[in-house]
Formats: sequence, structure tokens, C-alpha cells
Amino acid sequence: MLTVNVNFVSHAYPIHIGAGLLDRTELFAPYLKGSSVALITNATLEPLYAARLKAALAPLGKELIQIVLPDGEAYKNWETLNFIFTKLLEAHADRKTTLIALGGGVVGDITGFAAACYMRGVPFIQVPTTLLAQVDSSVGGKTGINHPLGKNMIGAFHQPQVVIADTALLRTLPLRELAAGLAEIIKAGAIADAGFFDWIETNIDALNRGDEAATAEAVHRACGIKAQVVAADEREQGVRALLNFGHTFGHAIEAGLGYGAWLHGEAVGCGMVMAATLSQQLGLIDSVTQARLKQLIAAAHLPTQAPPLGNERYLDLMRVDKKAEAGQINCILLKRLGAALVERVADHNLCAALTASVQP
Ligand code: NAD
Ligand code: MG
Repeated sequence: MLTVNVNFVSHAYPIHIGAGLLDRTELFAPYLKGSSVALITNATLEPLYAARLKAALAPLGKELIQIVLPDGEAYKNWETLNFIFTKLLEAHADRKTTLIALGGGVVGDITGFAAACYMRGVPFIQVPTTLLAQVDSSVGGKTGINHPLGKNMIGAFHQPQVVIADTALLRTLPLRELAAGLAEIIKAGAIADAGFFDWIETNIDALNRGDEAATAEAVHRACGIKAQVVAADEREQGVRALLNFGHTFGHAIEAGLGYGAWLHGEAVGCGMVMAATLSQQLGLIDSVTQARLKQLIAAAHLPTQAPPLGNERYLDLMRVDKKAEAGQINCILLKRLGAALVERVADHNLCAALTASVQP
């Protein structure tokens, strides 16, 4: 088992990573204080893994409240949140009840937000089951739901007691979801750790195959990078913005095609290539660095060419991004592999990068 410690000033907690952790009672035991536990999962994961988690918890003698949500981003909303509250109230969950999120980023985000709100805050544990959730959404304490007028617009910062990332659960993950998670792993190397980027290049075939040792190492190193960045900037006012490398272009692709057409990780993968192209055009990196990033994204089975939405449409979509200020578009650019910066970029420069990135 590998462990990353997330050291927030207000609250420190461990992320445990390894195969088979789901069955290990002792990893959960220290964090379950009250007499009941609520296991929150979705309809896809419940038949796969809920029984094993319940068996791990059984020796602890807690009353178990099981809440099964419908599967999908479309259900990360107010109705589902209220459904969770109703179930908790009906079962007489109290302020010591710990919520356990068993699922990908959708289950993790909504469960974390439910924990932040229920009785003004109860403890929760993340058991992330997608690669993306293991390296990204379960780390950092952002929780929330979507609003019809915007994704992730309603939420709270609420840190888990512990994150238990069982890499063996990824065996049942669809390959497209695996690749989407790899995008965020490649991002971590690109913005913060050139040595890790080299390592991913060498090990990309093993990662694509879901090789256990390679996956655990990648999750460990990517989590370590995210933990370091978020601990330095708990409420997202500075360096945390660098985690959005590839996301300004990526969000434009997701919104422009309609959410769900491309997975978030696919859009971010392509968005990173676009941001690298922009960085090269601005003279920050050379063509070899841009090509290395593009090759690695392709090797992870992620798209490298942007859909043709039209430059004006791209700019409009990028202006509504959360990182934009007063209509000015801020981009995360590469200084070199392993280092990034935030910069305001003029429209004509963005258009040049878009023209070079869009499918012919
Ligand atoms: P997801 O939670 O929708 O999971 C993807 C699909 O895989 C779902 O159908 C799910 O049921 C299925 N699945 C999950 N684990 C499985 C397994 N082990 N075996 C088989 N199937 C499995 O998607 P995601 O990519 O994990 O998360 C996306 C969400 O995360 C978005 O809502 C996004 O906004 C959020 N997010 C949050 C943060 C944050 O900091 N809080 C960061 C990034 C993303
Ligand atoms: Mg992301």
C-alpha cells in the first residue's frame, strides 16, 4: 500500500492507494465514530462492489444505511441531493454518521456535498472507483452539484477523513474512462514534474493495459502532485489554477459539442495539446516539447485534434470559463515540461492556436 498525506492547515488526511484495499476493515475503522454509516453509491457500482465494502465494515458493528443513486452526470443535481437527505433523515442519521462515497467523481462530488450540508457537516470517506476520481476528484475537497445553468456551480469545500483508492477496482472500468483518467495523470506530470512525465512516456503501454504496479505508481505520483498543489492553495486563489492546464480549451470543447459527447478527460487531453501549441507559438516551448505532449496524449488513446466549432464560438465559450475575468481569457501555458504559468492571452493568439489545432 502507498500513502499520500494531504496536509491542509485545517485538516490533514491520508490517501491510501493499492490493490485490494476495499476489503481492509482496519483502513476504515479509525474514522467511523458514530453508531451508523451511510454507504452512498450508484446503480452500476452497487452490484459490483457494495457487498465487499459492507463485508469489510461488518466487524465494526455499525448500523448500515445504503443509498443507491442512478448512474450519470445528469443526476449530480439538487433532486438527487435531496434524495440523499431524505434517506439519511428517514434512517435517523445523526451528526456522527459517516458518509462513504463508493464511486467515480459524480458519486464523490455529491456525497461530499451532502456531507458538507447534512446537519451542517458530517464526516465522509472517499472510495474512488474511477482512475479520474482516484487521481483528481477525490483529492482537494471540492464537492458539489450541477445547476441547469452551469456545471459544478453549487458546492462547498469539505475534506474527507480518508481516501481509500483500491486500484484493483479499475479492472471493471470501461477503457474510455481509463483513458480519460490518464489525461489528468499526464497533466500532473506536464505542469509539475518532468521526471514523472518521462516515466509516463516509458510506461504508457502498461498504463493502457491497466498493469497493477504501473497504475498504483501513477496514481501515487499524480495524487502527490495534486495534494501538494491544493495544500499550498486550499481555497483556490493561486497555484491551484495550474491544475487547469488544458481545461480552458477542454471546457470549450465539452460545452461546444454538448456535455457528454466527449468525456471530460478526452477534452482535457486535446485541450493540453492546444495549450502546448499556443505555448509554442508564444515562444515559451520548442516544437519538440509540443510534439512530445501530443504523442503522449495520442498514445493514451485520447484525441489530439480539436472539433471544428469555429474560432469565434471557441472564444465565446472560453470567455464564460470560470478562469476568465471581465471577458479576458486566462490560459495555463507550459514554460517547459514540468512547469506551467497562468497568462492572459490576446484573442489573435488564441485564434492562431485554434486554427493550428482544429481538424482539417
Ligand atoms: P463518473 O463518476 O460518471 O464515472 C464514470 C462511469 O464509470 C459511470 O458510469 C460509473 O458508474 C462508472 N464506473 C465508475 N467506477 C467504475 C468501476 N470501477 N467499474 C465499472 N464502472 C465504473 O465519472 P468520473 O470521471 O469518475 O467523474 C466525473 C465527475 O467528477 C464530474 O462530475 C466532474 O465534475 C467531477 N470532478 C470533480 C473534481 C473535484 O475536484 N471535485 C475534479 C474533477 C472532476
Ligand atoms: Mg479536470
